[in-house]
Amino acid sequence: MEMMETLNNLKSLVKRLEEKSSFYQERFKESGVRAADIQTMEDFEKLPFTDKGDLRKAYPLGLQAVPDSEVVRIHSSSGTTGTPVIIPYTAKDVEDWAIMFSRCYEYAGMTNEDRIQITPGYGLWTAGIGFQAGAEKLGAMAIPMGPGNTQKQLQMMKDLKTTVLASTSSYALLLAEEVARQDLGDQLYLKKGIIGSERWGAKMHCRIAEELDIELYDIYGLTEIYGPGISIDCSEHQGLHYWSDYLYFEIIDTETLKPVPTGEYGELVITTFKKEGAPLLRYRTHDITRFIPEPCPCGSIHPRHDRIVGRSDDMVKVKGVNIYPGQIDEILKTVDGVSSEYLATVDHKNGKDCVFLSFEVIEGIDKATIEAEVKRQFKSRVGLSIIPVASSMGSLPRSEKKSVRIVDHRFG
Ligand code: ZN
Repeated sequence: MEMMETLNNLKSLVKRLEEKSSFYQERFKESGVRAADIQTMEDFEKLPFTDKGDLRKAYPLGLQAVPDSEVVRIHSSSGTTGTPVIIPYTAKDVEDWAIMFSRCYEYAGMTNEDRIQITPGYGLWTAGIGFQAGAEKLGAMAIPMGPGNTQKQLQMMKDLKTTVLASTSSYALLLAEEVARQDLGDQLYLKKGIIGSERWGAKMHCRIAEELDIELYDIYGLTEIYGPGISIDCSEHQGLHYWSDYLYFEIIDTETLKPVPTGEYGELVITTFKKEGAPLLRYRTHDITRFIPEPCPCGSIHPRHDRIVGRSDDMVKVKGVNIYPGQIDEILKTVDGVSSEYLATVDHKNGKDCVFLSFEVIEGIDKATIEAEVKRQFKSRVGLSIIPVASSMGSLPRSEKKSVRIVDHRFG
C-alpha cells in the first residue's frame, strides 16, 4: 500500500480513537497525544504502544469503542494467567474477519469445491468460528468438528471426503500418526492443511506433510486482532502475506522500541485500520518475526512477514546477539542426521557468556563432524560462536507440548 494512503489510514484511526474510544481517550490524555498532531509517519511512531496488560485492565468491556447496540459478539483470549481480555466485535468486524479469512483460503488454493474439517475449538476463543466463517464466505463446505475424538475425526474425514484439514500443529501431528498407525492413508482425500496458532518446527512440518501427503499452509493471527486469518503463506511458501488494507504492521527492537532495520527480526506490532468494536493502536504481539521486503514470486500485492520464530519472552541476548528458539530450529533442520530435539543452555564461565547447544544425532553418525557443522552454521547465520554437544537419540528430555528450549543460567 502507498505510504500516503497508509498515513491517511493511521491518521483517521487516531482521530476515531480520540472521538470514540474511552480506553484511548484516557491513554492519550496521559501521554499528551492529540490526533491533530499526527502529520507524518515519524509522528505516528512516537505514539504509545498498547500491551496485553493494558487490555486486561480494561476488563470486561473497557475496550469497547461503539454503543452497545452495535456489538454483535465478543471473544476472549485464553486467560491462562490472570484476567482474560474481552474483545467486542461489530457486525462489520465479523464480516471483515470473514473476508480476510476467505482470502487466506484463496491464497492456500482452496475453492468452493473444497470440504474443510475444522478441528480447532469453538467458543470464547476465535479459532473454530474464524475458520468456519471464512469457509462459508468462500463457499466451501465447513465440517465443524472442534477438537478431540480422533476416531470420529478420521471417520468423518473418510466418509465426507474432507479435502482440507484445519488444525493446530500438535493435533495435526497426532492425526497424522493415527492415520499411519491405522494405515488409512489410501482412504483419505486430503490435499491441504491449514495449520495455525503455535510456533512449530520445520521437522514437525515435514512429518505432518509426509504422513498425510498434504501441502501445508501456516496461518497466523491473535484474538486481540480479529483472530487467526490475518496472514498466511501462499503456494510459494516463502513467508506469510498479511492484509495491509486492514492492518498496519511494524517490527520493533524489544529494547529500544524503535523499528528494526528492514529484514531483521524483532517484535511484531499491529495497528488496526478498520476495526470498530475494539480498535487497537500499536498493539505489541510479543511474537518475533521479520519482514520479507522482496516482492513475492506469486505476484501478490500484500506484503510478507516470516514465520513466527518465538515469543519475545523466550528471547535471550548473548554478547549483544538475540537468540530465539525458532532460529535454532531453522539451523538444525538444515543439518542431516540431527533430530528436532535440542536444548540450549546459556551460562557465564571465566568472565564470558557462552551457549551450549545440545542436540540429538542418529545412530552411526560421526558426532565431531556434525558438531563442527552446527557450530559453523550458527556462526554464519546468527553471528555467535556456540559450544555444540551432540548426543544419542532419546537422550534429551521430552515434554508434552511447549518444550523449554533455551535455559539461561547466567542470572542464578
Ligand atoms: Zn506469495
